[in-house]
Amino acid sequence: MKASDFDLVRDLKFDLERGITTYGSDRMVILHADALGLLRYQIIEEIGFERAREIFLRFGFRAGFSDALEMKVAYDWDTDRDLLEMAPRLHTYQGICRAETTHVEIDIDDGRLHVKGHWYNSYEGSQHRMFYEESVEPVCWSQIGYAAGYGTGMMNAPVISVEKQCIGAGHEYCTMESRIADEWGEEADMYREAYGDLLDV
Ligand SMILES: [Zn+2]
Repeated sequence: MKASDFDLVRDLKFDLERGITTYGSDRMVILHADALGLLRYQIIEEIGFERAREIFLRFGFRAGFSDALEMKVAYDWDTDRDLLEMAPRLHTYQGICRAETTHVEIDIDDGRLHVKGHWYNSYEGSQHRMFYEESVEPVCWSQIGYAAGYGTGMMNAPVISVEKQCIGAGHEYCTMESRIADEWGEEADMYREAYGDLLDV
């Protein structure tokens, strides 16, 4: 199957008798972006920017990791790239942003991965700007965590993604890059520390 053949609307199941919505074996919840933005703001104010960043990185990582495992078992993908392209496709379906890859090198059996991508209309970046001035660093924490989690689940090896530019920091759109964790230098240290045990796969 090709990534372009995937249709979340077709595969999302609404059990109105039990009030349970599922995608594969995962229970899903549809939330308001404004409510999530307020929750995020309150967490930042309560525990501080750096600790909140760590929590949302891990939150995103968990979501991406689960999606990668579901994608691996639920479909028979034509190529490794099709499995990879499901990460931006799912993010786009989920209303997180319009995500697209701009550079892809992947060979799962050889443990090789290098991806670059763009995010347009990031909900997390725009929510950040509703409460704060332009940030001095990227702020799409759950989204960059998602990319790392998806990559880690897909490769079955630690992957770290770094957000390079961000609408929350005044850029026109967000950009990201993913590599096998060992191939990053110190710019990935903050992410490495935040994920900690989550990278043990
Ligand atoms: Zn961003």
